[in-house]
Amino acid sequence: MKENETSSEQVSELLQRQKFFFETGKTRDLEGRLRALKRFEKAFTARQEDLMQALAEDLGKPEFEAYLSEYLFLLQEVRLIQKSLKRWLRPRRVGSPIYFMPCRNEVRLEPHGQVLIIAPWNYPVQLALAPLLGAVAAGNTVLLKPSEEAPACAAFLEELVRECFDADWVEVVTGGVEVTSSLLEYRFDFLFFTGSSRVGKIVAAKTAHHLTPSVLELGGKCPCVVDSSANLAIAARRILIGKLFNAGQTCFAPDFIAVQASVRDTFLRELKQTLEAHPWEEELASIINEKNYQRLLKLCQKARYQKGEDAPEFRHLAPRLVELESWEDEVMQEEIFGPILPIVTYEEPKDLFEKLAQFSEPLALYCFSKDEGFISELVARIPSGGVCVNDVGKQATNLKLPFGGKGESGYGRYRGKETVKVFSYERSYSRRYLCKDWFESLPPRGPQMEIIRKWMK
Ligand code: NAD
Repeated sequence: MKENETSSEQVSELLQRQKFFFETGKTRDLEGRLRALKRFEKAFTARQEDLMQALAEDLGKPEFEAYLSEYLFLLQEVRLIQKSLKRWLRPRRVGSPIYFMPCRNEVRLEPHGQVLIIAPWNYPVQLALAPLLGAVAAGNTVLLKPSEEAPACAAFLEELVRECFDADWVEVVTGGVEVTSSLLEYRFDFLFFTGSSRVGKIVAAKTAHHLTPSVLELGGKCPCVVDSSANLAIAARRILIGKLFNAGQTCFAPDFIAVQASVRDTFLRELKQTLEAHPWEEELASIINEKNYQRLLKLCQKARYQKGEDAPEFRHLAPRLVELESWEDEVMQEEIFGPILPIVTYEEPKDLFEKLAQFSEPLALYCFSKDEGFISELVARIPSGGVCVNDVGKQATNLKLPFGGKGESGYGRYRGKETVKVFSYERSYSRRYLCKDWFESLPPRGPQMEIIRKWMK
């Protein structure tokens, strides 16, 4: 066992304690949950500097990006949950058929119980805490396993969680792949996984074994289509802002651009001009580790244009444009997850649809166009977790829109109200009364059968 790694004995003990704690009903106390969320908000804001430092250490995240995507985003979410939780959890009254009356019926949101959250490294704090807050708000206990690839953030999460919660309620488990694998052997009541499709499949097999319901937030290649009617200057700017955020290490970043052949050269000029006009390379996050840095260097060997110089000592990779002749190129075979932007072309929409249909369902589909007919057809023909037209990422960062994948990019949705819903199950509740029931049916039922046949067809 490595230093700072949670042992299997500790995990077993934690699970016992959390099981017992859940059974006491304390996680279900709504006022208690709200107090915990308030405590979290206070501790989180007080530790803003520690957070920024951990993100700089693990990923060299520029301050602007770290503040927006990891600090402010979570702050808004925890405030929204506190403001809305009572309303979201109010049972939903529904009616019933006349022959069940009198009867009161409602759908209640109940906590699953013991939840495991497995987080990735690219937004190591946001993608750990956003589900965690929803799980607590919904009344669950939580074990959080942060990514071993972002150790400073894992340490930050450990300290923050311990300041806000008893380990009986929420605790952080640290360690590498072996620890994650061993956690998957236990039977949780719900599992929330964010990571690659490859590991997602391993996780899905484990949850199937225990019949554990789960959410899988996975990755893939998100296409970005630019047609001949698009405003090319705006498209270039918005695509580069979305792509280069976190140095391209964002699950819903545009992976490649498919541009209509008639505007290809003009669009490439716009991309290059936009890259030249701003110091992008000065505000670029690092690539997470050497293995990924080397993988990306191999992928961009065909790039004929790059903005700025690489700085391998900081794992800074200069943004690259890779103009491709063929959709079959190596760089089109796997999720890139870095500041490399391949550009492929298509002649007619039907060629584009054929090519895009060969990829598995992406987390996001982007389209820059003014042609409403084309936009509608593209969206109808190419399924994806979310869609954003004429911009990048707005479908994935709005707390009012559910976020999640489809097919290879995962299943289940979260954000804001959806997060609380996903960490709950809908329990049907029917309450009857002891007055005479005209529809009670006791044998012999022959005469009743006659009536039912006559009136209920
Ligand atoms: P990853 O799948 O390698 O790791 C995610 C987690 O799984 C880590 O905590 C790790 O400990 C664990 N893990 C790794 N190998 C394992 C194994 N063999 N068995 C059990 N557990 C294992 O993903 P990553 O590299 O941390 O993140 C990048 C990927 O995540 C990209 O594909 C990206 O698109 C995806 N992602 C998706 C979303 C989303 O919301 N859909 C968000 C961020 C990242």
